[in-house]
Formats: sequence, structure tokens, C-alpha cells
Amino acid sequence: MNFRNGYLATIILAAYLLLAPYFVSAEGKVEWSKPQQPFCIAGNLYYVGTYDLACYLVTTSEGHILINEGLDSTVPMIRANVERLGFKFTDIKILLISQAHFDHVGGLAKIQALTGAKVMIDKMDAPVVEDGGNSDYLFGGKGRGSMFKPVKVDRLLSDGDIVTLGGMQLKMLHHPGHTKGACSYLMDIVDKKRTYKVLIANMPTILDDTKAGMATYPNVDKDFAYTLHSLKTVKFDLWVAAHASQFYLHENHKDRKGYHPELFMDKKHYDEELKELSQDYVKKFGR
Ligand SMILES: [Zn+2]
Repeated sequence: MNFRNGYLATIILAAYLLLAPYFVSAEGKVEWSKPQQPFCIAGNLYYVGTYDLACYLVTTSEGHILINEGLDSTVPMIRANVERLGFKFTDIKILLISQAHFDHVGGLAKIQALTGAKVMIDKMDAPVVEDGGNSDYLFGGKGRGSMFKPVKVDRLLSDGDIVTLGGMQLKMLHHPGHTKGACSYLMDIVDKKRTYKVLIANMPTILDDTKAGMATYPNVDKDFAYTLHSLKTVKFDLWVAAHASQFYLHENHKDRKGYHPELFMDKKHYDEELKELSQDYVKKFGR
């Protein structure tokens, strides 16, 4: 190694050491990529996500629906979880999301390619899914290219639309704010004992750079207000969310063994979380 190369190597090493934390953060928090045992939530609804990135499988006799696809790098984990439960990954027919952020759609392109499933997205998030995050109102348009692999959307969903497969009906609730097309899903899940109304909630977390009247999303404050009100009034028996931490999966289920739908009836934490988010709303938008 001559002097010049040694100098260059030092610069590269220094740059790497400086930037290394960002390479790690490109794939997000450690809990996002930690494996998680899949399990049945209730009836034909299963948790197949990672430790914190919640992905839900709704199985039917005519194929399955997957809600949230995690990161590109966690696709093998999700696939293994689906197969560990005894289902075929290629039987997934419909792909849905809670919101077009890379921690929920990063794996969408790969899973779509592996399964050939139809991608159905809230019409306000569809452009973001199709341009890999470039039109995201907070993270997009900063010249850094796609944040995830763009995916062509097969069906645009509007508030109240029903997604059907094999006798299952999922009602999409448009819950904008966190992204313009963030959404929740309501469905009836039946087991041997009873029918549960299940809410897969998209909690309206307000990100730091959000401002009322911002050019990329002038009505952001009104949308958050609408979503908070909608989530406070929706009726359900069981609830889960896009991140395991949001519905206290690991605290509530520490000692769980076997089948326990009642562990998801935690209305107390649901109300507490919405209360906190409402306080954040007042802090941010002042009313
Ligand atoms: Zn997000």
C-alpha cells in the first residue's frame, strides 16, 4: 500500500465509521428485525410479523389476506411465520397496508412478486406506494430517491370499502394524518365460541416535522382530528395495531400459552393511547 492508498483507506474508514449508524437506521430499529413466534389472535386471524412490525394474516378457504408487509429484509421471516402456522405463502391473494411508510411497505414488492397477490391501497397512499415514497408529505421529494421498492397498485380503496375473499369481509376505514392514506380495518372473526369484531387500528402518531397548513399537506391538522374522533367512536371487541408496542403485545402476552383472544380486549390501553395522541394533537396544533 503506498501513501496515497493508505490516505484514501483512512478517509473511507473514517467516513464509514461516521455513517455506520445511518446504515443501521436505514433498516430501522432493532425490534423491527427481531424474529417473533407467529400465533393465532382469534379464529382465522394470525400474527405473522416480527417482534415489533405487526403483520396480520387472515386465512380463508379461497386464499389469504396479508395486512402489512414489514421491511424488505424481513420478508423471509414473515414467510417462515406463515409456513410455520401451516399455510402456504403462495396462497396469499390480497395485500393490504396500514400506512405507506417503509416499515410497513418495504416488503410489499418482494411479497407481491413471490405470491402474485393483488395490491389494494387507500387511494391517498397509492401514489406513495407507486413512487417508492417520493411523494410522501414528510419524507418525500428530498432528492434521495425511493425509500422502498415501488409497487403497482391493483385496486384503489376509499373509506368504507369492503375487501372480500372466501367469505371474509374487511371494511377499510380511512384514517389519514400519519400518512394521507393511513387506514384501519374492521372485520368479524368467528371462532367456536363467538364472533369478535376486530379492529386493526392505525394509531395517528404525529411526526415531528408535521405542521398545520404545510404545503405538502394543507389539511393535515383536520385529518388528524377526524381520525382521532373516528378511532374514539368505533366499536370493536379486539384490537391490534401496526406496531406490536402500540397494543402492548409483549407486556400483555408475556406468559401466554395457547389460544387467548381475550388478551386483545385491552380497551384500557387503547383509550390511554388515544388520550395521549389527543394531547399531542393539542400541543402540536393548539386546539
Ligand atoms: Zn409510520
